[in-house]
Amino acid sequence: MEVCSFCKEKRKIDTVISGYDNSHICYSCIKASHNIIFTSDTYEDSDMLESQNNHNHMTSINRFTPKTLKKVLDQYVIGQDAAKKSFSVGIYNHYKRIFKTNPKSDIQIEKSNLLFIGPTGSGKTLMIQTLADYLDVPLAISDATSLTEAGYVGEDVENVLTKLLQMADGDVEKAEKGIIFIDEIDKIARMSENKSITRDVSGEGVQQALLKIVEGSVVNVSPKGGRKHPNQEFIQIDTSNILFVCGGAFEHLDGIIKQRLSGGSIVGFSHEAEKKEVDKPNILHDVEAHDLISYGLIPELIGRLHITTVFNEIDEKAMIKILKEPKNAIIKQYKALFEIDDVQLNFTNGAIIAISNLAIERKTGARGLRSIMEDIMTDIMYNLPELKHSSILITKSVVQKKSLAIIKQNNVKKNNVKQIA
Ligand code: ADP
Repeated sequence: MEVCSFCKEKRKIDTVISGYDNSHICYSCIKASHNIIFTSDTYEDSDMLESQNNHNHMTSINRFTPKTLKKVLDQYVIGQDAAKKSFSVGIYNHYKRIFKTNPKSDIQIEKSNLLFIGPTGSGKTLMIQTLADYLDVPLAISDATSLTEAGYVGEDVENVLTKLLQMADGDVEKAEKGIIFIDEIDKIARMSENKSITRDVSGEGVQQALLKIVEGSVVNVSPKGGRKHPNQEFIQIDTSNILFVCGGAFEHLDGIIKQRLSGGSIVGFSHEAEKKEVDKPNILHDVEAHDLISYGLIPELIGRLHITTVFNEIDEKAMIKILKEPKNAIIKQYKALFEIDDVQLNFTNGAIIAISNLAIERKTGARGLRSIMEDIMTDIMYNLPELKHSSILITKSVVQKKSLAIIKQNNVKKNNVKQIA
């Protein structure tokens, strides 16, 4: 073990870099320094740069503003501007509440958890993952449909805390400042509408169980997960500083909002203006707590999810950008993979549009892009080691499987062009 000269935490030898005079810097501090140098708005947030740090991993948490967080998101997440802003503010306030508020103050700031509403593959998970990575805080992702109340067959709700503890390498203090993303929360809301069918095994009961940990309580967690039993050892986790984000596609929620906006009736508008108001695109942005209750979420849980963030569907323009622009865009990744074999990979604009449209047809948002690309590229990659010193062009008809990719041998005087499978 060595002590990091910056955060003064004891670290395993293989996770520090040592300098002269017995000084050391640990991985977390290197990461925090990198984030400060390359993403902060230099002196704009100087007041955030000073003062306390309660815990080594959180050193970077003192050094950001909503703007710096949004800048980080901009590098990885295309579009979703409103969501990026509201999430950046949510994260900023959350950690400010933990690290900057005076515990002796009369005013205790309540924790604000978040609700993400948006179609599948629109960047909800990506956004959370990006900031959790940037802040170096543990993140646990769980699917609400796999959770049950204690005593039923399935995963206990408390297991989301076990997951978080595992993501924090067993460090309770670190886990207690982590993030938990509960996806598909809309699916358990729906079930509670059909009480007679499901006897509410995993609907309202799970929401009630979630409510307990979301609002902040000390929970006995089994470090290995699984069902609790009396002889087991437990670790206590205080959830009052854990940020919970619940997310879901909330299909048909737009219908509920429309109904509310039209005064209960979806047909027969008395005024043209009223009809316009109800027919506008992105109506989800008008969502209110009441609509979510009609959808089947319990009011107490909605009351704990203070910030509602709406994600837009990924359209063709955004899909094209997602393919090309983020720091780790899929096309950039394939190009890099081909470069290792000294092969230059190019796509025509037509090919990129065709790939985007295939993803839109699949209705899985940008998530579909990866498998579409794999489908196009597998045969080509099979032949890749034999194609050294060449360039490959992917056209629209290659994407549509109407023709084969065109390869050009580099540094060959005569145009040596052939097609490959
Ligand atoms: P969900 O909204 O269902 O949580 P994800 O965030 O998991 O969707 O998105 C799946 C994948 O699609 C991501 O890993 C990323 O590659 C891509 N993706 C989705 N939305 C975006 C976006 N707005 N910008 C960049 N990539 C995106």
